[in-house]
Amino acid sequence: MNFIAATNNPGKMAELRRILERMGHTVQSQREAGLTLDPEETGATFAENACIKARAVCEAAAQPTVADDSGLCVDALDGAPGVHSARYCGRHGDDEANNDKLLAELAGVPEDARAARFVSSVCVWLPDGRHATFEGVCPGRVGFERRGTNGFGYDPLFIPDRVGVPGTPDTVENTQGRSYAELSAGEKDAISHRGRAMARMERELERFLADKSVLGMASGGVDIKEKDPS
Ligand code: IMP
Repeated sequence: MNFIAATNNPGKMAELRRILERMGHTVQSQREAGLTLDPEETGATFAENACIKARAVCEAAAQPTVADDSGLCVDALDGAPGVHSARYCGRHGDDEANNDKLLAELAGVPEDARAARFVSSVCVWLPDGRHATFEGVCPGRVGFERRGTNGFGYDPLFIPDRVGVPGTPDTVENTQGRSYAELSAGEKDAISHRGRAMARMERELERFLADKSVLGMASGGVDIKEKDPS
């Protein structure tokens, strides 16, 4: 399928591109498609925000569009930063300041109370108005200091419970406590919230494309949530 990816975040775009291309799709960023949209994320959930972004870009481009809304939910912070992850520090997209704030909020919190999960909701929106969202979750914890230089956002602080084994469908326990930012693309994509949501999308896509009945649903879409993130 030829998708437009509804994001202005270069780190997220790089991941969406490599995952979609590995699945055999082609993808253009909204910038490459000549769109300068930045719709306001007014939803209360990741799924609502993913739909807002995918719909706005799809309606402007008249092409199948994929959007990811994602964030880090920390147990000790009652789920924060959650849907506010991109603007946790008060400014949109300042990764360094967001990480500083997260470390400050967790100062003095011991390792066994630093549990967190990354959540991604991926929305596919079609020009005929049909859409579906697919959720992926990656459990882990927040580290005490930044580690690694790969990726973007909170990657240097997030330590996933498991990591992928490149070239295989396997995952192994993250016994070395490596952060997302210390993983290769293959190690991250196999276990990441975004990788899992996209894998779910890939499994369901054909059925969704063939199912014209979803047009008649009250909400106009399908919501496929991750039940077992392990
Ligand atoms: P949004 O989905 O564009 O509203 O922003 C998501 C925010 O969550 C990003 O700006 C990052 O701060 C954070 N985030 C989402 N996914 C990742 C990831 O894979 N690694 C690190 N940070 C992420």
